[in-house]
Amino acid sequence: MTFDELGLNAAILKAVADCGYTTPTPVQEQSIPLAMAGHDLIATAQTGTGKTAAFVLPALQRLATPSAVPGKGPRILVLTPTRELAGQVMEAARTYGRSFRPRCGTLLGGMPYREQLRLLSAPVDIIVATPGRLLDHLERGSVRLDRLEMLILDEADRMLDMGFSEDMEKIVARAPSDRQTMMFTATMDATVSRMAERMLRNPQRVELAVRTTSNALIEQRLHVADSLHHKKELLNYLVSDEKLTRAIIFSATKRDADELARELTRNGHQAAALHGDMNQIARNKTIERMRRGGIRLLVATDVAARGLDVTGISHVINFDLPRFAEDYVHRIGRTGRAGASGIAISFVSRSEVSYLEKIERFIGKRLPEQNIEGLPPLAVLRRSAGGAKRPAGSGANRFGKPGGKSNASQGQGKPWDNSGKSASARPRRTPGYQPVVEYRNRRAPSETH
Ligand code: AMP
Repeated sequence: MTFDELGLNAAILKAVADCGYTTPTPVQEQSIPLAMAGHDLIATAQTGTGKTAAFVLPALQRLATPSAVPGKGPRILVLTPTRELAGQVMEAARTYGRSFRPRCGTLLGGMPYREQLRLLSAPVDIIVATPGRLLDHLERGSVRLDRLEMLILDEADRMLDMGFSEDMEKIVARAPSDRQTMMFTATMDATVSRMAERMLRNPQRVELAVRTTSNALIEQRLHVADSLHHKKELLNYLVSDEKLTRAIIFSATKRDADELARELTRNGHQAAALHGDMNQIARNKTIERMRRGGIRLLVATDVAARGLDVTGISHVINFDLPRFAEDYVHRIGRTGRAGASGIAISFVSRSEVSYLEKIERFIGKRLPEQNIEGLPPLAVLRRSAGGAKRPAGSGANRFGKPGGKSNASQGQGKPWDNSGKSASARPRRTPGYQPVVEYRNRRAPSETH
């Protein structure tokens, strides 16, 4: 399916195309037509699935028809649990609505009232708010919801976790009863269901196939990497482990896959690349070689590895983290198959912290950080405390136990705080791995496929 088939207007389609998006994600494909048909909706979708556009696009489409109700209040209201999330939603509305510039703004707790009151002094199309502050404005009479056409509850489960239930009820009670309501939630339990029952009318359900990481046979680990060079040092160390019988190493780009495979081969490993620039015959040949044991290290991109079914993969190594949290689950699922155990190791560099946070939110737990003796990172990685949402029964267990040559560490202080360590104070890394050469002109991981 393409975006053109969703029934969105030309201005929105152009903005989407300008972002480089060609295909709707599953949650967009399912939610947008239902939303545009005016249904109430409850979608179970985590961050990283493209859920923001799934509600922002139909909301913008709604604005193309003028409001029949006079007044200044918002036509679209998005409630979010946090300021950060509100910021993302606002940015999405501005990006996708660029050509017709909807009047929009945020009402967030902890932010000055003056600007918020100024925003509310003129008619507004879209408001993105945290529940407490919005309720505050409603109670002061600085905003009214009588023009409201669409109410969106983003990360509804998280708002409940944060104790916003009562505020949300009060807000909904002041909204017109003929509004359309869409609820997005990462998890669906009895509390969320009860809230949906009270706030939604005959909702259509959108449920994405939940790919679980509950496979206890896959051990997941994380190594913080300071640079590309550091990632290569870590990789060389890991692939020299005899327990690694067969691995898939994921890289962000096709070019990187080629270069890494070449370097690994130069270092004496049986390695090959697998990516979308190779024709089908070449790809099949590579996969066949891996099946027969002629390749121990396969360096792949996500697209090429989709559907790849090779048994006996002992390790999956994410040399670069995937941009989409779902891909993380796809990737690590290449190991730990058919009752065998597997190890999934991810490298995270400074520029990939946001991907890591999305992944952790998606899988509902924090990846345990480990250091390899002689190869510790210089910088301390701090992830947002909210990174792991509702850990699946793992509260006490967010950081993995140290094992073997590794030791667990928890980042503290400022993000990427070097804690005053200068390069010269860096612990010397022990040899025992092949020194590797930096790629020249390497592209940023975001330039994918
Ligand atoms: P979200 O789940 O809304 O946080 O979105 C995750 C990321 O996916 C964001 O960086 C979006 O810009 C991006 N995104 C949303 N829709 C698409 C799409 N159809 N194709 C590619 N990327 C998308």
